[in-house]
Amino acid sequence: MQADVLFPINAEAFTYLVPPEIEPDIKTGSRVLAPFKRQEKAGIVIGFKNAETSDSKIPLKSIIKPLDNEALISENMLKLIKWAGQYYISTSGLALKNAVPSGLFTGKKIGKPRITYSGDIKITPPPELTTEQSLALSEIKSVSSGVFLLHGVTGSGKTEVYIRAIESLPPDKEAIVLVPEIALTTQIIERLKSRFGNKVAFYHSGLSLGERMAEWWKIRNGEVKIALGVRSAVFAPFRNLGLIIVDEEQEPSYKQFEGFRYNARDVALARTKLEGIKIILGSATPSMESFYNSQNGKFKYLEIKKRIDEKPMPEVEILDMTKEDKKTWFFSDKLLNALKDNIAEGHQSLIMLNRRGYSPFMMCSDCGYTYKCKACSITLTYHKDTKTLNCHYCGSYLIPQDVCPQCKGAKTRYMGVGTQRVEEELQGLLPELSLSRMDRDTTRKKLSHHRIVKAMEDKEIDVLLGTQMVAKGHDFPEVTLSAVISADVTLNLPDFRSSERAFQLFTQLAGRAGRGDVSGRVLIQTYEAGHYVFEYVKGHDYNGFYAKEIGLRKELSYPPFSRLIRIILSFRDKRLAESAAKEIAMKIKKIKKEGVEILGPAPAPIEKIRNHWRWHIILKGRDSKILRQKALNISEAIKDIKDIKIDIDVGPVNLM
Ligand code: ADP
Ligand code: ZN
Repeated sequence: MQADVLFPINAEAFTYLVPPEIEPDIKTGSRVLAPFKRQEKAGIVIGFKNAETSDSKIPLKSIIKPLDNEALISENMLKLIKWAGQYYISTSGLALKNAVPSGLFTGKKIGKPRITYSGDIKITPPPELTTEQSLALSEIKSVSSGVFLLHGVTGSGKTEVYIRAIESLPPDKEAIVLVPEIALTTQIIERLKSRFGNKVAFYHSGLSLGERMAEWWKIRNGEVKIALGVRSAVFAPFRNLGLIIVDEEQEPSYKQFEGFRYNARDVALARTKLEGIKIILGSATPSMESFYNSQNGKFKYLEIKKRIDEKPMPEVEILDMTKEDKKTWFFSDKLLNALKDNIAEGHQSLIMLNRRGYSPFMMCSDCGYTYKCKACSITLTYHKDTKTLNCHYCGSYLIPQDVCPQCKGAKTRYMGVGTQRVEEELQGLLPELSLSRMDRDTTRKKLSHHRIVKAMEDKEIDVLLGTQMVAKGHDFPEVTLSAVISADVTLNLPDFRSSERAFQLFTQLAGRAGRGDVSGRVLIQTYEAGHYVFEYVKGHDYNGFYAKEIGLRKELSYPPFSRLIRIILSFRDKRLAESAAKEIAMKIKKIKKEGVEILGPAPAPIEKIRNHWRWHIILKGRDSKILRQKALNISEAIKDIKDIKIDIDVGPVNLM
């Protein structure tokens, strides 16, 4: 007997002999210890072969011993892992590594679950559903499998529908709830706990190894009924899954940007299909792809048009910064006055600027010199708290000098604006204000986002300022004003999805205002007030935006009219990259196109990251199998080019 053993490394399974005396103990999905490159390594048995039918020519090594006496990984999970490895043109081993905590392979002891939240769990009675909520729920309850797109405006009570859908599962069935960011888990976990008590596991990659193992086992052993988490929770090892919920399904953070480049929403869809269960994709602003799928009948469309208690949608004003009066750097008089009034009335406000740090670049006003990262083609962002110039791509930093490195002049200026600078200016203008900042810099420490959310809920904060983190999902009833300092940061990304992202982000932010008893107001500052996105943001008009955007996508045959694969090529040397690009172009010419459009190679918009010069090839096509085959053909044809590094991104969320 021979067994295929999969290790959590970038490779497919390896075949081993199974010594007859341990044969009864070795099962598909169980862990074994096996010799691997002069070491012993733990892996998962994923299948068996008969010695006679085996095609192996080299003598096989033998499995050393079993590590479990039962299957640890379910058959469906193994299928999902294999599917993901193939679909993302990666390997089953890398998929396994992302799907299962590494502690399972290192013999680490299982840690104690972390106590994430203090305070007792108060079970609260459910509210009575609105008509729209009931209708959506009864559709979901009426079937045991299928894909639902739950399109509900912000504040329409989607979370309550999720909770009821979980409650309506048969008693032995389990559910996964995916949210796009850890910062969003605070409120949703409290709501889940208030209804399901301690039947909820909190599963995400921010946990320590031991904690992750502990949660994994709880889920695997069915000690909990619900797993809540970000991306990696899609692999929660339930053995009796009945439902997956993907909240804010359009969020780019469901995509992993490095290594194993999976999209948790798409893996969730695949898992749903494999297990024959149902899935709810929820959003106030569905992705173009999902809405398109609901239009052509692939997904079942459920709509909630009204906010709870028929609260009005907030009024949105676009402030044209070329015309607005302003006495300060970043605040128009209108926005500043609105803030003052809002605070005087005892309400809270949210301010978004989708750029962290103090200023996005420093420039000498004599010679125009700007500080750039030595390893990336990116200007360095000044961070005032650390007094450093940081690269947001590679993490390296410089200490700015008193004189310009180029002309030795003394007139280096901070250019542009980041959240730290807005914080400083606003605090200077309104010293009494209780202001908090939420961005990646203030939420690095464990639980720091939780503290900010709590302080907001307890009304210890008047104004919460931050990056897109503040726009998403939160339910703060006292927020009656939300504002965007500079919409242009979001509008002007060199990417075909930038309008979609901008519409989603501004609509999300608008949705934070006026969720309580007082109606809300939204102010968006921009130097491009004529951009078409604003028309639809103002009118809370998703359908209008979709109709406009889908036309543009069709014209350029971008998703949903095609699927994309992006091949990223990196080189150490700029000139080598250029000559390789020519060679690659020649090789691509020889590949038959048949229904696939191949663009490039061309320099990527961000030309250099971590000392690597980046080029890319974009493949567009309707049939995902053919498309993947072409991507494989290309990478095969170019893999021997000198010093090339090839990365394949299936379903990229941006092309930068
Ligand atoms: P969404 O996720 O759609 O933005 P939420 O689920 O956060 O909206 O709901 C908004 C608010 O309305 C929450 O405070 C929630 O507790 C409350 N809510 C939800 N459903 C009901 C209902 N049927 N009756 C009363 N309040 C509700
Ligand atoms: Zn860098």
